[in-house]
Amino acid sequence: MPGPAFDLPPQYDPRSVEPSLYQRWLERGVFLPRATGEPYVIVIPPPNLTAVLHVGHALNNIIQDVLVRFERMRGRAAEWLPGTDHAGIATQNVVEKQLAAEGKTRFDLGRAAFVERVWAFVRETGDTIIEQLKIIGCSCDWSRTRFTLDEAYSRSVREAFVSLWDEGLIYRGHRVINWCPHCLTALSDEEAEHHDTNGNLYHIKYPLVDGSGFITVATTRPETMLGDTAVVVHPDDPRGKPYIGKKVRVPIADVEIPVLADESVDKAFGTGFVKVTPAHDAADFEIGVRHALEMPLIMREDGTLGEDGTMERGNDGPKDSRSNVPSVHRSRVPAELEGVDRFEARKRIVKQLEHDGLLVKVEPHPHSVRRCYRCDTVVEPRLSDQWFVKMKSLAEPVLAAYRRGDFRIVPERWRATFEHWMENIRDWNISRQLWWGHRIPVFTCTKCGYQWASRTDPTACPECDGGGGPVEQDPDVLDTWFSSWLWPFATFGWPQRTDDVARFYPGHTLVTAPEILQLWVSRMLMSGYHFMDQRLPFQTVYLTGTVRDTQHRKMSKSLGNGIDPRDVVNLYGTDALRWTLIGGGSLGADVIVDPDDLETTFAPGRNFANKLWNIGRFILSQLPAGVTPIDRMDKKRLTLADRWILSRAQATIREATDSLEQFRLDEAAKRCYEFVWNELADWYVEAVKPRLADGAAAADAQAVLAYCFDVALRLLHPVVPFITEELWQKLPGRKPDDLIAVTDWPLQRADLEDAEADAQFARVKTAIEHIRSIRAEYRIPPKTRLAATIVLRGSDRQATFEGERETIVRLAQLASLTLDGAPPPEGAHAVFGDGSEVVVALTGAIDVQHECKRLAAENERLAKLISDLSARLSNESFVSRAPADVVARERDKEKTWREQRNVLAGKLRALGCS
Ligand SMILES: [Zn+2]
Ligand SMILES: [Zn+2]
Repeated sequence: MPGPAFDLPPQYDPRSVEPSLYQRWLERGVFLPRATGEPYVIVIPPPNLTAVLHVGHALNNIIQDVLVRFERMRGRAAEWLPGTDHAGIATQNVVEKQLAAEGKTRFDLGRAAFVERVWAFVRETGDTIIEQLKIIGCSCDWSRTRFTLDEAYSRSVREAFVSLWDEGLIYRGHRVINWCPHCLTALSDEEAEHHDTNGNLYHIKYPLVDGSGFITVATTRPETMLGDTAVVVHPDDPRGKPYIGKKVRVPIADVEIPVLADESVDKAFGTGFVKVTPAHDAADFEIGVRHALEMPLIMREDGTLGEDGTMERGNDGPKDSRSNVPSVHRSRVPAELEGVDRFEARKRIVKQLEHDGLLVKVEPHPHSVRRCYRCDTVVEPRLSDQWFVKMKSLAEPVLAAYRRGDFRIVPERWRATFEHWMENIRDWNISRQLWWGHRIPVFTCTKCGYQWASRTDPTACPECDGGGGPVEQDPDVLDTWFSSWLWPFATFGWPQRTDDVARFYPGHTLVTAPEILQLWVSRMLMSGYHFMDQRLPFQTVYLTGTVRDTQHRKMSKSLGNGIDPRDVVNLYGTDALRWTLIGGGSLGADVIVDPDDLETTFAPGRNFANKLWNIGRFILSQLPAGVTPIDRMDKKRLTLADRWILSRAQATIREATDSLEQFRLDEAAKRCYEFVWNELADWYVEAVKPRLADGAAAADAQAVLAYCFDVALRLLHPVVPFITEELWQKLPGRKPDDLIAVTDWPLQRADLEDAEADAQFARVKTAIEHIRSIRAEYRIPPKTRLAATIVLRGSDRQATFEGERETIVRLAQLASLTLDGAPPPEGAHAVFGDGSEVVVALTGAIDVQHECKRLAAENERLAKLISDLSARLSNESFVSRAPADVVARERDKEKTWREQRNVLAGKLRALGCS
């Protein structure tokens, strides 16, 4: 009876299936949260709007999609909120690059025109990444797509800023910050990443002003000497003590500075004399504050030398020096170094020192430098005025909540990193000297100088009596992360008390890359706790692994080792991509892919899809339109094989569900694979084939098959949504409106669990496998039918084998099967775990004489090897001279050969060789 599956093409063609199914899911509103049910919420880590989908995003988002689809099928109101980040520095950089190609800078355009230009760019390319997420099957709630710079979101950012201001948690700090001379902005500590570098340590002589000689200082950045205002020594260091209170002359800068005592000096470093550049080094700044030193800036914002105040551009184009930059009386930067880049200046200064006999030595000195996380430029520490958030009181309750177990971070190995950062949290520099972003809502009255933060743009100063002077807004914008740290609730409409906020906050799972644990994750935890009544934004933070190439390098544009997931989708389909990435890495582990060999890399996924399609075609071809539901069949008619596969289905449901709940997605996928392949296709389908062909008996087997395949497809759906939907639609009894994407997750059924059937059918499988391996061992061709005897331990087993006699005979290709008879005198034995045995008669199956000869020759060869080796091992001089591991290896070898000989002896006996 031809089933409904005959319209399935013989080859699975993902391209003809995936786009139309995705469209159908969209049209049916599958991705919207159900109106009822307990919510399950994931907010997407918003990609930068300039981002292009790469395989790393793909992994991250596929993990989220698997979790969301799983919970959706479990009946929860699943909300996966998507969106993009305006990505201040990154986006501004892209547009500035475009301008540079036209020979212009942002200052040529002016602020308003530049920002308009960025908006135009955003409108043009802004949702590219969103469209790409659809291609990899993401089931986001697109109706709630957010952008961190849209109007409602901007109100949330302003609310957060002003309320922190009102609480006294925002302050203006005058201190050394991380400055990117390329992006021309301050960076937070987290945005200035540490990188190892093979630098040098330069030992430089500073002449004593009294003419009594020199002291030697050591530095990795000689160019900063132009900004030195003191040399410090540890007060207990005998090398430095005699010099305290004297003065030295800084070469090249040609200024006199004092030698002072400071306990912060590390006596073990260099010569014990430390030069102090308060304006260009964070630690030196602290020393400068303690000793009330002058703090001259000797470098401009673009990293060239110079101290000309008019070159301090500020954030609104060239203007006079910024408020708190101290003025200097005389120039420390010689004219010939004015405008020279800091690294070129370093070379020239070192050359000059050498020429003047003031360079003692240069030693290689590997150390760490900070680089801009956006453009990789070496960050310049720089004295500057910036806005900071006091973090300590925000971090403390979150750390306590973590230690109480109120939320968890998986894998657990990130605990130390997280705790260390939270314990040592530093204030957060949130102002950026950019134009693209949320402008800082701090206003200053130009008449009375009053400064305040405001939720709305003020027209007049609240402090001046009737009509004050004009009001100026701070020119800087907020750190991008100051908007994205509000993502779990600003996206739902906070500070408005919307239904969405009530329903979808707090959320449940956050899936993201470990690189942004500090930049983003911990800050969201803090903002959620602080602004949302001490309720944390999620219960679990899942830190994914990284996708790397076969040399273990991260994928990157500059290395040219990236993989565009769209290429994989075009070649092999979305499910193949998803299956490979999910199956390729366990919780938090890296996934290795080979960009030069997509075919091999994605073969697991492609092969899986093809196999699933083929088994699907076969099963569907066996199922009549009116297949009996499992619950309407007479359970008494179930065979051992039926009971076994139904029981295996329950175990699979349990294990796959547990694995997904524990975020072990790869294990869930593997368990489903085993069920479909090893259990359902290889054993059950093979076992029931004759019944399927037998009109009257077919119905029961069809019912079991339909149930098991249905379960398998549902369990697999979160990982491979397209092919499972396509096959599931074809199962008998489906109505046109049915979708696996919103059907129920299979529930484990106690009435179908059957430990006895599990154990008994396992023995049937073992018997068949034993016979198959004997066939392989003796190289018996498949067409040769064998005579086998099974000698059973325990009389109760006989019924099992009697019931499956036909299956054993057919699958093991037997001529006869004797149960519990006397074993034939000559035959190959295999023993079960409980001592039962299967014996295959070899007479007639093989050319005994020829096999005896072959085995005897092999036996002789082994005997010779063993005796030679034994002789060596009993030779005292060999054993005492040779290294211990060599001797141990030789002994192992001898043992293996002896074991092989025992096996041979058994075979020779079995064949009755003389
Ligand atoms: Zn930069
Ligand atoms: Zn005023």
